[in-house]
Amino acid sequence: MDTSIAYDVVLLPDTDRAVAYRKRAADSGCSLMGVTVAGFGAWVRDLWELYGDGRTFVSRLEREALLRAACERAADGDCVDLESDKRAQLDGASGRCELAEGCIAEGACALVGNGETEALGLDRVAAACVAAGVGLPAFDAAVRDAQQGVLAGAGALEGVTRAEVPVLRMIGGYLDRLAQLGLVEPGQALALLPELLPQRPLHVLLEDAAPLTPGQEAFFSACPWMGVEVRAASGSQGPVRAPEGVRVRFAFPSGQYAWPALLADIVRDALGAAAGRGAAPAAAAGPAAGDDGASSCEDASGSADGYRDGRLAWSQAAVVVVAAKNPAVLFGRVAPALVRQGHVAALRGRRRFADTAFGRAICSLRRFLDEGQACGVSHIEGYGDIAPTDVERWDRADLADWALSPFSGMTKKAAFKLDADMRADRTARRSDLRARLRGDNPMFAAMERLALQLDARAAAELEAAVRRMTNRSEAWRAEQIAALRALQRAADAAKLAGLGADTAFDQAKRLKVNVSRIVAPRGCDGAALGAPDVLVTDQNTAASLGSGSCKVLVAADLTSAAYPAADPEDASRVLLEHLGVERADSALARMRRAFFALEHAATDQLILERCLNDSSADPTYPCVVLEEFVDCYRDDPTATEDIDNPYSLPERLQDGMLLRGEDALCANDALSDAPAPEAARIEPPLTGAVSPEARSLVVLPRVLQGGQVLDEPCLSPSQIESYLECPYKWFAQRRLRLDDLDEGFGPLEMGDFAHNALHSFYKHMSEDLGEAKVTPQLLAQARELMADVLARHKALQPHLRQSENRLIPTSQVEHRELAELEHKLMDYLDFEAELLPTFAPKYLEYDVACGGAVDYAGHKLLGTADRIDVDGEGRCAIIDYKGSISGSYALGVREEGRLGKVQALIYAQVVRRTLGLEPVGALYVCYGRRKMISGAYDGRVIENAHLPNMRHKDCMCADRPFSDVLDETEEAVAAALERMLAGDIRPRPETPEACKWCPVSSCSERRG
Ligand code: SF4
Repeated sequence: MDTSIAYDVVLLPDTDRAVAYRKRAADSGCSLMGVTVAGFGAWVRDLWELYGDGRTFVSRLEREALLRAACERAADGDCVDLESDKRAQLDGASGRCELAEGCIAEGACALVGNGETEALGLDRVAAACVAAGVGLPAFDAAVRDAQQGVLAGAGALEGVTRAEVPVLRMIGGYLDRLAQLGLVEPGQALALLPELLPQRPLHVLLEDAAPLTPGQEAFFSACPWMGVEVRAASGSQGPVRAPEGVRVRFAFPSGQYAWPALLADIVRDALGAAAGRGAAPAAAAGPAAGDDGASSCEDASGSADGYRDGRLAWSQAAVVVVAAKNPAVLFGRVAPALVRQGHVAALRGRRRFADTAFGRAICSLRRFLDEGQACGVSHIEGYGDIAPTDVERWDRADLADWALSPFSGMTKKAAFKLDADMRADRTARRSDLRARLRGDNPMFAAMERLALQLDARAAAELEAAVRRMTNRSEAWRAEQIAALRALQRAADAAKLAGLGADTAFDQAKRLKVNVSRIVAPRGCDGAALGAPDVLVTDQNTAASLGSGSCKVLVAADLTSAAYPAADPEDASRVLLEHLGVERADSALARMRRAFFALEHAATDQLILERCLNDSSADPTYPCVVLEEFVDCYRDDPTATEDIDNPYSLPERLQDGMLLRGEDALCANDALSDAPAPEAARIEPPLTGAVSPEARSLVVLPRVLQGGQVLDEPCLSPSQIESYLECPYKWFAQRRLRLDDLDEGFGPLEMGDFAHNALHSFYKHMSEDLGEAKVTPQLLAQARELMADVLARHKALQPHLRQSENRLIPTSQVEHRELAELEHKLMDYLDFEAELLPTFAPKYLEYDVACGGAVDYAGHKLLGTADRIDVDGEGRCAIIDYKGSISGSYALGVREEGRLGKVQALIYAQVVRRTLGLEPVGALYVCYGRRKMISGAYDGRVIENAHLPNMRHKDCMCADRPFSDVLDETEEAVAAALERMLAGDIRPRPETPEACKWCPVSSCSERRG
């Protein structure tokens, strides 16, 4: 390293590499006195500050925000194709632009350049063009011509399509605005600097250089007084064999569950071997502490645009360096186990803003607060155009996510209570919740101001609050403050462009925050260590550490999905090509250079890892550089037989392969094959039966009216019917109560509403009209009465308790469903006028046990019959209202060897005993869309014509007394109750229909 003698300036591709260069120089004793060592961008910025015209560099966020503002102005009318006079079709929300004829990148899909398959908006297409093209004569001339109204294909716009001209015009407007704001594009500065710089000899070395961009080329050509030497980074042509003495091994975990455990094995082996050869020994193991099970220090720097600031001394040399696609996630999984084993582990990586605790919390809160959410109109078959109501425009889960975050200032208990309260109340209004939280919770108030108004004072309050969270590790706090500042930068950029919080959040979500931390066993000051045992980082950082910087280098995630080699053909690239601005570099070349650097970083072992299966259990494929590297060791790279195996490796490279399956679940999770100490032995729970000890609790004691507690088993007909339908379903629904937390708007609530309305209707029939039964002559009055009843019941619903299954519609669809139910009940009156004309309703919502419990099937029973109609002969028919009816309600199902529905039959038997009436019918009357009747009746007493819309042959009992049916039902129920009380709760569905709405999702007996 002779830089102190030969060069005035050494330029590296980025700041990371510049720092590593300085460190290597210091380690090798080479003086850099008087030598500027910097990333190219930072050097140009310094030159501009010294010799520029006083304008400051625009940041990436400011560029994107200003272009988005330009894009929105274009949406208002500027973006017009002058030839066709057609306006660009701009979607303001996404900033997407299409001309009426063809999209801006004709034939090209606009994709983000980093491999993410996300469609670019016009602003981001323009931003990419500006970053790469501004300052280049061809680009600047095209922008000028576009602004002056030159048509596509003429002047500097030769080769440019008509659809691209408005984009260039918009960029021109952006550059004018930039000048007004006293800002300058780095490309403009690069073009202006040759005129401004003092013309004195300067020796410049571009070390480890990527191919120069057209802007850099032009700059150095315009500065002939600079002696420029370019030392291209090695590896652009493809990988080479690993250096002599470095052992190459391959690691193939079968999936993501196995990978952390395999990595832990690798680290243990490597550290053991390294310690044996005198490398940094692992710190003494001790009891773990802290939120990572260790003491920790960190650097989560505030820069989200790159590794511009914040570096720790330990970052340069670890025994094992792991280069992973997502180092923060991997570190979270392996570090605690490594620390428990006495190792010091460090992380340098980046986390998406939205993945930080602060990012998640503020994004959730913003979704909750955002009034514009889900505001479109959708067309629903049968309902027409439906616009969401206010209740539908927000999701309770968003507020719950915020409440459960550390940024709510709420205890877990309070957060869960808020969640439960919201979910149990369909009437909860966003505005009321906001007002309540704002009053009670200063943290909410600050976050609300930040989320909606980007209030700087709120950001300061939150930063102070984070600093006060001393129960969290310093690493965590630093990460959250970095995320907060990232949002502030996005907010500042949006404000500069005159845009609102939407833009700031859109930009913030695309940012990443630098996170770094070191964790060490208790008693060991990780920060004071010269180097950690293990450094988990990304590929670029690992590549910048330099040759021979670690003993073992693990290059992880080498799949084609993680590292795609193709450059995306996005709209910006197409536009630049039309202007003759060629790409200087490629994704493949970058990957090759990084891989070459990784190959040379290790002194002992190079371990190349690829998970054999992805998270969907689909096979993965090696990335291009891995294939190229393997080819270096093959005699004939065009052959296929030698690599026709799951590892795609020739035999000679399979030596020392590291494999791990996903079957060892516990060992993989614990990151250790050592048998876990047995803390407790828990017998697998009994399924399908209640244990003898718990059998007495199968039916809980009942409190009767008057407060008397009934200890002996007491059941309702609906419980019995549910048990007969399927014992396990009964257990899940009635005893485990696997009910939803959310207040519903379904069959239960609709059924209760209809029952209450019908009860009220008949009560008023006899009280107001002096009639017990609807007849054809009374239909007009009955309809009037029903309309009044329905109106009152609807108005009553919000005043009921949630436990009363109130029916609260919150959306247009639900309002229409409620209206439909009202129509059904109104139409039901016509049906009712024909039903059982010789009977009249006498008992409504009749408590068959009269406040106590009656005997039935050898046990106690209580319940309420919907209606009992009685004739002049002391005969009765039990009526049970239903919203819908299936085949199981008919008596005829007994011919199939099953009992079918029994509720009405049970009531009939009880009524026979308690009221002394003679039951002649146990009927299920459907008030739903299709009015019909099912159940059982005495065909010798009731005429078929008096039971309209019934399959009489399935329901009629004419060959024996009706009482026999009731006795036979009681016997069968008695046998079932014996099984129930003996703890038999095996899943045994009576029909596949039972499984249809069953809440037991993992039932092996599920049918249908
Ligand atoms: S899924 Fe079917 S068999 Fe299983 S518990 Fe539910 S109703 Fe019974």
